[in-house]
Amino acid sequence: MKVIVQKFGGTSVSSRPMREKAIMHIEAAMQEGYSVVVVVSAMGRIGEPYATDTLLNLIASEDIVSARDQDLLMSCGETISAVIFGAMLRGRGHEVTVLTGGQAGIATTSDFGNARIAKIDPERIMKELEQNRIVVVTGFQGMTREGETTTLGRGGSDTSATALGVALDAEFVDIFTDVDGIMTADPNIVQDARRLTHLTYTEIANFASQGAKVIHPRAVELAMQKNIPIRVRSTESNDPGTLVTSGVHFLEARPANDKILTGVTHSKNLTQIKVRSHAAQTGFQNLVFRSMAENGISVDFFNVTPEEVVYTVPNTHVKQAVAALHALDLEVQTIPNVAKVAAVGAGIHGVPGVMARIVEALTEEKIEILQSADSNTTIWCLVHENDMVKALRAIHDKFNL
Ligand code: ADP
Ligand code: ASP
Ligand code: MG
Repeated sequence: MKVIVQKFGGTSVSSRPMREKAIMHIEAAMQEGYSVVVVVSAMGRIGEPYATDTLLNLIASEDIVSARDQDLLMSCGETISAVIFGAMLRGRGHEVTVLTGGQAGIATTSDFGNARIAKIDPERIMKELEQNRIVVVTGFQGMTREGETTTLGRGGSDTSATALGVALDAEFVDIFTDVDGIMTADPNIVQDARRLTHLTYTEIANFASQGAKVIHPRAVELAMQKNIPIRVRSTESNDPGTLVTSGVHFLEARPANDKILTGVTHSKNLTQIKVRSHAAQTGFQNLVFRSMAENGISVDFFNVTPEEVVYTVPNTHVKQAVAALHALDLEVQTIPNVAKVAAVGAGIHGVPGVMARIVEALTEEKIEILQSADSNTTIWCLVHENDMVKALRAIHDKFNL
């Protein structure tokens, strides 16, 4: 049996006309002889009645919901979506079975809100497929050994899809969404962003973990373990989208003058914190990081010098971080509302002049660089959030992406 997993994101199932387009892709796959497992997200985005964020907003700020109950609430979005999608497929004459994550055999840890997939038992799905049925599975959901419903973290329907792809040894996992594929930048920010036709798992995992939210990084890591090809495609067209594979041959065949950067991406809602010791006390750096850890505050973009510790935290954690630092009698300065702009590309390593071009691009636009960092595949610059869009466009242009 050749199996394909087709995942449809929130906007792809938000209305009847969109679901009709989604169904065309399922029928096309069936025509090609595939047994189809469909994974659906909750319908629509915030503001629409059954979207995940809308469900979350049903809890008033004075009410208290446990993490367990919040997962029960959030999981409803995908359940509603799967039932409605299944009904439309049946209306078109297909045999359909709708399954929750638990019924589909997705066993998870009990980390409510961000559960990890511990195991998938594909038996039930296989039995349904063997009877020529389309199986519609709720994305985002799993179940603990004790039978508790869990969710896989925001954007986790991608993870459901690739995990099922691995368990079923699928020929492809198709991620259908509202853009033409994985682009050199978020097309809603950089208008001339270009579709990338073929990427490796590593390239896209880097890109996704730096903020390109078109596919969840955990989904890519799972597919990579079993080399299951992913195609990121638009629900509204028949274009091939972006193919993601291990791509060894592709990499070897790359021309020497190929693009250095895969693309640019961003993460925002951050605050930069600078800490000094009044008394130039030795070892104050140790106090800073220990106190952040004890407060459960994750720090990023850190830079330690003998005089100063600089790092970023999410805006939501600033108050707590500053209070903890003041309690240690340290001198604290903050710059709120900063954003990390990341230039990502496997080709960065060892290529001279990449940082020079980035700095040139930002300087030409009079964008202040608050801090920078680099790894084998990424150069990050911290900028004021007001400058973020300009910075993304400037780097995108400078490298002719
Ligand atoms: P879905 O609901 O289908 O899962 P998401 O909203 O999670 O869709 O992901 C699609 C969105 O990702 C696009 O609308 C786009 O704004 C955003 N995005 C961010 N970076 C990129 C990128 N590099 N390429 C394509 N889309 C991107
Ligand atoms: N509905 C979930 C979310 O909004 C999962 C997903 O769409 O991937 O995070
Ligand atoms: Mg998504």
